[in-house]
Amino acid sequence: MNALQEKILKEGRVLPGGVLKVDGFLNHRIDVAFLDEMGRELARLYSGEKIDKILTIEASGIGIACIAARHFGNCPVVFAKKSKTSNISDDFYCAQAHSFTHNKVSDIIVSREYLSAGERVLIIDDFLANGSALDALISLCRDAHAEVVGCGIAIEKVFQGGGDRIRERGVRVESLAMVSEMSDTSISFKD
Ligand code: 5GP
Repeated sequence: MNALQEKILKEGRVLPGGVLKVDGFLNHRIDVAFLDEMGRELARLYSGEKIDKILTIEASGIGIACIAARHFGNCPVVFAKKSKTSNISDDFYCAQAHSFTHNKVSDIIVSREYLSAGERVLIIDDFLANGSALDALISLCRDAHAEVVGCGIAIEKVFQGGGDRIRERGVRVESLAMVSEMSDTSISFKD
């Protein structure tokens, strides 16, 4: 998506440790109109596929998942939680994810009530780096016997290899911008 590449070049900042900061439109302040365009593009890429539910992970995936859902017939959005809050039942699916930005492993959970056998699920997230978050979300779907139709990612950092590894497993992964290299002074994309 050219507009996303341009926005990353204009507003993105590369932090030490290989983190791309796009707080101005995706991870802190949210550019709703722009996320709407991203959601439209994800729906175009997955047109022809029946999607029953969108699954994401808190916190940064929630915004784009909810806006994208408007383009998928207002399908429900479920986000995996990173901690078991008191309002969640004891009946949940659980998987472990290593957080790239916080450098720690945590359990992510989804109540069994909200993920069902046979559902066709699209997984959406803001970033794809090493692929740990997607691995965990795919594993939750597998445990629930739900079908992963594919993944829709805003920004994939191709050089970290997570996307290719997951594609090699036969999972469809569509990323709206694919960063092939980045440094303090430049960001380049794979088309
Ligand atoms: P992975 O599990 O693929 O290694 O990392 C994906 C998760 O880490 C995403 O949910 C995202 O929140 C976070 N993440 C990974 N890389 C970046 C990055 O460069 N910038 C930001 N803002 N978040 C990232």
